[in-house]
Amino acid sequence: MPQKAKVSCCGKDNKKEIVVKKIDRFSPCPCDSQIAYHKCCRPYHLGEAAPTPLALMRSRYCAYALGLVDYVIKTTDPANKSYTKDTAAWRLDLMPFCQQTSFDGLKIVEAEEGSDTVTFTACLRHSQADASFSERSTFRRSADGRWLYLSGTTPADD
Ligand SMILES: [Zn+2]
Repeated sequence: MPQKAKVSCCGKDNKKEIVVKKIDRFSPCPCDSQIAYHKCCRPYHLGEAAPTPLALMRSRYCAYALGLVDYVIKTTDPANKSYTKDTAAWRLDLMPFCQQTSFDGLKIVEAEEGSDTVTFTACLRHSQADASFSERSTFRRSADGRWLYLSGTTPADD
């Protein structure tokens, strides 16, 4: 008989709250823009549509950094390979990643105006180890005109 997976010793973990990392809105934005959070990604996190793929990309990096997993989910195209219909399960997947990763910076390598791709290097540390990566992200507009994250490849792959 396989043993039941141990969820927690006291049951407290069953009702895990979504923990969002606190940030003062006047602090520098975690997307590394050198602009205050409230003048940068915060409006998008509050519901405003990101006007460009670059703005969406930055706001998603920032959402990962702050643990705003619902924003990450909401801005992922249903055609993306990570897209999960069970958003509750997806949320539980994303939370530990956000919590255990330190988001140390973002370098935009290429983001041409009018293009639906953004190439960037994200500087991350996961469990004390360097987990930085480069990606060329592709975005597309949803039916209601909002940009969504469609897919990503490593730039060398193209
Ligand atoms: Zn930002």
